Amino acid sequence: MAVKIYVVGHKNPDTDTVCSAIAFAYLWNKWKETGAMSDVMKIEDEAVPAVQGDLNAETKFVLDKFGMKAPEKLLDATGKKVVLVDHSERAQTLDNIDKAEIVAIVDHHKIGDVTTPNPILFFNLPAGSTATVLKVLFDKTGVQIPKDIAGIMLASILSDTVIFKSATTTALDKKVAEELAKIVGISDLTKFGIEVKGKLSEVAGMTAKQIMMRDFKDFNMGGKKVGIGQIELLDLSLIESKKDEIYEELVKKKTEGYHSVFLMLTDIMKEGTELLAVTDDPKVVEKAFGKKLEGRSVWLPGVMSRKKQVVPPLEKAFS
Ligand code: MG
Ligand code: MG
Ligand code: MG
Repeated sequence: MAVKIYVVGHKNPDTDTVCSAIAFAYLWNKWKETGAMSDVMKIEDEAVPAVQGDLNAETKFVLDKFGMKAPEKLLDATGKKVVLVDHSERAQTLDNIDKAEIVAIVDHHKIGDVTTPNPILFFNLPAGSTATVLKVLFDKTGVQIPKDIAGIMLASILSDTVIFKSATTTALDKKVAEELAKIVGISDLTKFGIEVKGKLSEVAGMTAKQIMMRDFKDFNMGGKKVGIGQIELLDLSLIESKKDEIYEELVKKKTEGYHSVFLMLTDIMKEGTELLAVTDDPKVVEKAFGKKLEGRSVWLPGVMSRKKQVVPPLEKAFS
C-alpha cells in the first residue's frame, strides 16, 4: 500500500512556506503520473501538503483568492515520509524529524542542520522565495503550472521579497513573477503585492503576543538559543501604540531559555527595520550591525530581510 508523503514548510507558517508545500505536492504528483523524474528517482507515493501551525491572515487571503483549501496540520514526523520546503533547520522543522524519512528538500535559505542517511532530491537556490525555486523545477521537468497554483506561487514571491524590495530579491524572482503573472492574468504586480502584504499590516485585532509570534524563528548561534521575529508593515505607526506591550512580551519570551530575542519591525514603505532587542549581551547588536542599541531598539536603514541581513551578521557576532 502506498503511503503518503507529507510536504511541509517551517513552523510559524508564512505564505511562501504554505503555498510552496501545496505547489510541490502538486508537482510531485505530476512527476508520479508522468514519470518526469523517473530517470533519477522512483516515485510511488502520493504527496499531500501539510502545515505546522495556523495560517496567518495573509496566507488565508491568498488561498481564498485562488480558491485553494488550507493544508492539513502535521506537527510530529514520527514514522512519516516527509518533504521539507522553505527550511532545513531542525529548530524550525517537525518534532521527531529523526524518526521520519526525509525524501526531498526544496529551499532558498542557508543550508540548515537537518541531515539524511541516503541521497535525496535537495534543490536550493539563493533566490527570494521557495516558489521561485519551485518554478525552475516545474520548468525543468516540463510540468505546466495551473492558474491557481501559479497564483499562490506569485503571491509567495511578492510576499517573501516584500514586493521585490527585500535584499533577497534576485533577477530570477522578477522574471519568474512576470511569467506566473501571465498565467494568472495579473498585470499590476505592485498593486497585487500591496494587496497581499496589506493583509499582514492588519494588526488591529491582534494581541502584542500574537504580533511578536506571527513570524518568529528559533536559531542556534554559537551554542546560544536566539529567537528572531519579524513583522512587516506598510507603516510602522500601525503598531506604535502597542510597542511597549510588544517589548514586554519579548522580555517574557526571553525567559524561555534564550540568550537573545529580537523582533524586526520592518517598514515596507520606508525600507528599514527597527530592531527590538532583549539580550544578555547588548554588544552583539553593535558587533553585528555597527550600531549601538538605543534603549530597547536600533533603527537599521535598508534592512528588510532576516535571512540575508540579520541572521548572518548575528551569527558572526555570536561566533
Ligand atoms: Mg518562509
Ligand atoms: Mg521563503
Ligand atoms: Mg519570510
